[in-house]
Amino acid sequence: MRWKEQLLELKPYQPGKSINEVKRQYGLAEIVKLASNENPFGSSDRVKTAIADFNGQFSIYPDGYATELRSKLANHLGVKENQLILGNGSDEIIQMIARGLLSPGTNTVMAVPTFPQYKHNGIIEGCDIKEIPLVNGAHDLAAMAVAIDASTSIVWLCSPNNPTGIHITDEELTNFMAKVPEDVLVVLDEAYFEYVTAEDYHDSFQLLNRYKNLIVLRTFSKIYGLASFRVGYGIANEETIAALEPVREPFNVNSLAQAAAIAALDDQEFIEKCKMANSAGLQQFYQFCDQAGLEYYPSQGNFILIDFNADGQDVFQFLLERGYIVRSGKALGFPSCVRITVGSMEQNTGVIEAIKEYLRVHTPISN
Ligand SMILES: *Cc1c(COP(=O)(O)O)cnc(C)c1O
Repeated sequence: MRWKEQLLELKPYQPGKSINEVKRQYGLAEIVKLASNENPFGSSDRVKTAIADFNGQFSIYPDGYATELRSKLANHLGVKENQLILGNGSDEIIQMIARGLLSPGTNTVMAVPTFPQYKHNGIIEGCDIKEIPLVNGAHDLAAMAVAIDASTSIVWLCSPNNPTGIHITDEELTNFMAKVPEDVLVVLDEAYFEYVTAEDYHDSFQLLNRYKNLIVLRTFSKIYGLASFRVGYGIANEETIAALEPVREPFNVNSLAQAAAIAALDDQEFIEKCKMANSAGLQQFYQFCDQAGLEYYPSQGNFILIDFNADGQDVFQFLLERGYIVRSGKALGFPSCVRITVGSMEQNTGVIEAIKEYLRVHTPISN
């Protein structure tokens, strides 16, 4: 068959090990998964109630416009309803944007390492990929601006960046936007927005008023704890949203997911609690790393990238055998690191104890 040639070089997404698989393999009773930046506190109790009370008919298609969720979300964010596009996770919005703007002969600019879906979707659309290395875990916006040429269709920015947790400052983003030609779309992925505490974090809504070529992505998968429901959204100028809408599948956000997201939005107290617990959790990791002499990237997300100065895969395996699933930095472009999702205080203490054990038996190779 005549598959797109570029598909031959692509691997399907490799999901992390399942909890049951690890339990069986290592004979462990308890597993703590700190690998996918999921919320350790789950989601608001209101979501459980909303799902239990869900009385929609399963034979009826979802509301394709997600009217109620859209209205709640617009109200919550302080934007107009037609400034929003909803997706089956923000992954789907990334796919829609790539599908709408990229094709052979165009190119797209992004950082490296960053969230892999930008590149993945660019390759599927057959465009050229321009990857600009991070500097100390941060986007090199000056070099990214220089990389934009007449064939560039999209620039992807991830702030805080996955996997480093480093954010782009307001000043940096404002200066960058001024340099981007108005026919190049800037996609600003704010998947971890609700966790951010930095005071100089960008005010992207301010910029949305000025620039039609900016779209901000957010998700219910991270702090809202609804990863299994798949709800993400984009916020942009209404004309940009109108241009993108035809790419969207008609019923892309299912009825249960809409009900769950509506209920989750209503409980901002839960979000505030999770944010505070996350900040405290990051402090636990910082303190430990400082004491142990481990380097790390200070994070604005709910994860931390720690440099072990060793093979990240070995550290991953060591922790796995002790019941902690983390992400090896190998696949993330940081081979000597692991990325750990900030868990509950108890989970953080547990994984830190396991790391201490690792450090006792492994003398790090100094560089
Ligand atoms: C987790 C994540 C997403 C994907 O979120 P979904 O809404 O679950 O598809 C997007 N971008 C970044 C940077 C992420 O870390």
